[in-house]
Amino acid sequence: MAELIFEGSKGWLAADSLHSCFFLKGERTLLLFDAGSPRILEKEYALGTDAVFITHSHKDHINSLDAFLHSAQKHGRRTLIAIYSPKLLIGLISPEVIPDIPLSFPVTYGIEIPRKVGEFAVCAYRTQQSTPPPVSVNAYRVSDSKTSIAYATDCSLTDGLKNFCKGADVLVLDASGITPSHMSPAEMKILVEFAKPKTLILTHFDGEFSFEQLRGSIGHPNMFAARAGLTLDVDSIVNCPRKKLMR
Ligand SMILES: [Zn+2]
Repeated sequence: MAELIFEGSKGWLAADSLHSCFFLKGERTLLLFDAGSPRILEKEYALGTDAVFITHSHKDHINSLDAFLHSAQKHGRRTLIAIYSPKLLIGLISPEVIPDIPLSFPVTYGIEIPRKVGEFAVCAYRTQQSTPPPVSVNAYRVSDSKTSIAYATDCSLTDGLKNFCKGADVLVLDASGITPSHMSPAEMKILVEFAKPKTLILTHFDGEFSFEQLRGSIGHPNMFAARAGLTLDVDSIVNCPRKKLMR
């Protein structure tokens, strides 16, 4: 039974650094999506994470990645961590995320997204953030035998993105609303109405729009606001909306 564990939900360079990121925890696999929150340094994450999927190279999405690797070292990790990211990310962030000490475990950096990690099937949609200079952004979709989750942040609305997210049971969506680098509330609504997720989770709050404002404008019946420490049982939020959801 999979869980979504959010460890940050803020946007660009928030004072507390709790930038949007989350884990997907399955029965035998732990995946991390974005690395912008120091809460990912916890021992169970540093030792247990199988793969990290970065959406793009901006600091609010990567600035705890280096410390995450150091934490894994400190706690005695021996097993490989695989880090995946868009093509442009490699040259941009490798110097700052490769720790300056020899690691006790292997780290691989890849731009080709593996089809499977543990029990999860994974794929990516390569798009761009349009604010100059353009930045490559990956949207991700991950599924197990029961449910599928799409994650889209810091990108414009395109037909390709709409089709990529279509039919996902859960959509984790950027709530910043700042255009053109992010979707406006009207564009969020278009995406949600096209993709038709059973559950919509908003994250990456930049202070421009509140969750209540966006809930009013998007109008999805089963919406959640991500926050650091929020754990959601995926089956429950998809099949039993608004019941037994938070702990
Ligand atoms: Zn961002």
